Amino acid sequence: MSNHVNGVNDVNGTNGVKGGKPVFPEDAATKEYAASLDAADPLASFREKFIIPSKANIASKKLAKPNLSKEPCIYFCGNSLGVQPKVTSKYVEATMDTWSSIVVGGHFTEIEDSPLQPWWLLTDQAGTAMSKIVGGTPEEVTAMGTLTANLHMLLASFYKPTATKHKILMDWKAFPSDHYAIESHIAWHDLDPKKSMVLIGPDEGEYQISTQKILNYIDEHAADAALILLPGIQYYTGQYFDIPTITEYAHSKGLVVGWDLAHAFANVELKLHEWDVDFAVWCTYKYGNAGPGSMGGLFVHEKHGKVDYSQGEDAPQFRHRLTGWYGGDRSVRFKMDNKFKPIPGAGGFQLSTPSSVDLSCLCASLSIFDETSMSALRAKSVKLTAYLEYLLLKDTTDETRQFQIITPSNPNERGAQLSLLLKPGLLASVAEKLQEASVVCDKREPGVVRVAPVPLYNTYSEVWQFVELLKSAF
Ligand SMILES: *Cc1c(COP(=O)(O)O)cnc(C)c1O
Repeated sequence: MSNHVNGVNDVNGTNGVKGGKPVFPEDAATKEYAASLDAADPLASFREKFIIPSKANIASKKLAKPNLSKEPCIYFCGNSLGVQPKVTSKYVEATMDTWSSIVVGGHFTEIEDSPLQPWWLLTDQAGTAMSKIVGGTPEEVTAMGTLTANLHMLLASFYKPTATKHKILMDWKAFPSDHYAIESHIAWHDLDPKKSMVLIGPDEGEYQISTQKILNYIDEHAADAALILLPGIQYYTGQYFDIPTITEYAHSKGLVVGWDLAHAFANVELKLHEWDVDFAVWCTYKYGNAGPGSMGGLFVHEKHGKVDYSQGEDAPQFRHRLTGWYGGDRSVRFKMDNKFKPIPGAGGFQLSTPSSVDLSCLCASLSIFDETSMSALRAKSVKLTAYLEYLLLKDTTDETRQFQIITPSNPNERGAQLSLLLKPGLLASVAEKLQEASVVCDKREPGVVRVAPVPLYNTYSEVWQFVELLKSAF
């Protein structure tokens, strides 16, 4: 694993963190210094747009309208479920009011004082906003379903195994749902997952996987591999993979390249179109703040979404997929003539009438991203996470520390999250003490605490407080 050296200004990788790693001065470990960073934060006002639960809310087991007290909890779990934007209930209410007032008319009628498009255009409203976040064209991105369901849909279109090219390369410690999806797709094609699934893992005793190691796996399996699917950011270690380099190399060896961006969406800057990614899926309830189980997103590169009418209006040529009427071109969708003509781009992969309520939640949270940019958010995120790392490592050594940071130290290789692997036996008591102090972060057995300060709503002062609390919990 790479060593954690403070204040080294040595990074500039292809994922593009500008200016390298932030360097903090001698007096940076004080409460006052943290407050000064907050005072200088150009994104500080965004916190006001979210409902940060109070300590009392977190402790209470009742439905309580925010907030039961003024003292906010420290919420560092936005990598699992983002907090609620204040605007979300207004968007949902607008949908409820449209439904109650004009019922079926809501599908097509523009409502003057609603922040929402007519329902049948809502996936475009969400897709356009998400395309800016992932670096695609509006046509390359759509909202539908949920992550795992979308992964199945896109695998149905992009995984076409043959007798000689049938392997899928994936992350050794993939999120279980991704593992099950791939395993079952392979079995669905009457192939044996033991022979067709290749798990890319780190070296013995390590947590991070070098780009070179991934390229070596691609080389080793190039002859019989059909597809590679990796997480943009690995959920457990927080490692951010080098998407452009891996994508380009896998293409040069004839593989289809898909990315699961569950932990990368709305966390790091992505350029899916420019990086020539074939397809990608993500959920929107983590850094996207769209609510529990909110609608997922997907990207299909322009070159795979084309609809070719050169053989006649009635003979459109398009990439094979599993189809449903909502993927049908809007101009002919209601002809009901059973001649499928897909919407060009990702929209043509839609299946069903989407939930307007779900889309309202998604459009609400995306409206906040529309007020800033991923480059501004990422710039703060790099500094916020570097500050967390700096405080965690300060005045300790690898020998005296009660934990090891298994997330890369290079900001180009991580997003907001740091994963702390605690010494054996510490997890339960540390987690209990953090909970008592109303700190919300995620623990993963056997010994990892995942800490994710989110640039939209977390502060440097919270990072400072968290580290004080954590150190006193050992
Ligand atoms: C969060 C997450 C999921 C969750 O999938 P759903 O279908 O939204 O439940 C899947 N894969 C990864 C890598 C994740 O981080």
